[in-house]
Amino acid sequence: MVVQKFGGTSVADPAAIRRLIDIVRAARTRDGRGPAVVVSAMSGVTDALLALAAAGGSGHSEEALASVEQLRERHLTAARELVPGSENAALSAHITGTFEELAAVVKALGVLREVSPRTLDVIAAMGELISSRIVAAALVEAGLPGEWVDARRLIVTNDDHTRAAPLMRETRSAMRASLLPRLEAGRVPVVGGFVGATTAGHTTTLGRGGSDYSAALVGAGIDARQIEIWTDVDGMLTADPRVIAHPRLVPRLSFDEAAELAYFGAKVLHPSTILPAIERDIPVRILNSRRPEGEGTLITATPSLNGTPLTGLASKRDVTVIDITSSRMLMAYGFLRQVFEVFERFRTAVDVVTTSEVSVSVTVDDRRHVDAITEALSEFGEVSTESEMALLCAVGDRLRDEPEIAARVVSVLEEVPLRMISQAASRRNITVVMRQADLPHAMQRLHEEFFT
Ligand code: ADP
Ligand code: ASP
Ligand code: MG
Repeated sequence: MVVQKFGGTSVADPAAIRRLIDIVRAARTRDGRGPAVVVSAMSGVTDALLALAAAGGSGHSEEALASVEQLRERHLTAARELVPGSENAALSAHITGTFEELAAVVKALGVLREVSPRTLDVIAAMGELISSRIVAAALVEAGLPGEWVDARRLIVTNDDHTRAAPLMRETRSAMRASLLPRLEAGRVPVVGGFVGATTAGHTTTLGRGGSDYSAALVGAGIDARQIEIWTDVDGMLTADPRVIAHPRLVPRLSFDEAAELAYFGAKVLHPSTILPAIERDIPVRILNSRRPEGEGTLITATPSLNGTPLTGLASKRDVTVIDITSSRMLMAYGFLRQVFEVFERFRTAVDVVTTSEVSVSVTVDDRRHVDAITEALSEFGEVSTESEMALLCAVGDRLRDEPEIAARVVSVLEEVPLRMISQAASRRNITVVMRQADLPHAMQRLHEEFFT
């Protein structure tokens, strides 16, 4: 049995959902049962929901309500086209009801003039809760036994709203109790990705791009044979196609390589996706829903080598570098602990770290607390920050055993001023930090050198 996750563009409109139905039907024919289906919101819907929440909270209620109306129409139209028969009334009533609720929340925001993270999650979750209803009904209309399952009863999380972390044991047992009987009865459960709830029943979300993570949690929960991520590109590519014109497909990846590429910016996979898969050794395959006949990218624990010295490149923009310089660091112990405690206090993840005798440089991509962090760090020494930086990460298992590859990466970039260079103990990636303006050129150079 497999889990099939369909991203925003793969459920964007009735035509995309018809392709989804064909893909689900093919999997069912192949496996004799299943699959379990996880879907994103229709493309652009999460962005629209977050934007209208912000507009509502800042007093622009009319603009926000107009957007609610547009979303309602878009979903109703899809429902009419996909489910024209007698089932349409129930589906349409549900959609209308959800958007009425959303309109009521927006009006309340106009009065309160603020959007709490908890409210934001209630609003953001609506995209997946609705798209999953539509997909379940469309499957039934197409003669497949689709059944909507409420993600809020499957994924149990902590209360860190907008980026909640699943409670693994509770989530797994909820999954097994709910999904296994349905799958055994020959049904096709359809779950909205991205969404969960706390043990107290408050709706949460797993962070942007989190539907991939939901799919992996479902896969691990039901011990699936494979987790399929259906998206709008052929698989993991050697670079972000929005940065490099013709990246190549990476046919095979190790879990570790995939985790690094995803963490350092390959948006095609949410960075947490790979963790549940690793734990249960479940292969993940990334596939193109517009070209389902492709092989995609297969991610496993120990893939055979692709034959290129590097596996792929990834990059993150809008990174901030923070430097702490202090002579107190010289010969002292405990200094780094104090520095990192500050980042912990502000719950800000550090991506890259380099140190010298008297200074530490770190990068963060969550800018929300940079000012507060800077202030707290100034207790230990001189602090400076630099924004609009970018991080470029070259990933490949062969970096471990062939040090000349890392040397080649750095020498190819000789005319780019590099602010930090880091190769961590995993030796699976080499990461360089530069001005954002230099990123496209640096990417181009590396891609030419290693992939063309
Ligand atoms: P979905 O809605 O299916 O989850 P996403 O937009 O989240 O899709 O992810 C797919 C997109 O990721 C692609 O359209 C592509 O622009 C982007 N992307 C960035 N880096 C890579 C990469 N290395 N390989 C493939 N896609 C990438
Ligand atoms: N819809 C959510 C987002 O846009 C989650 C996802 O699609 O993975 O971030
Ligand atoms: Mg995604």
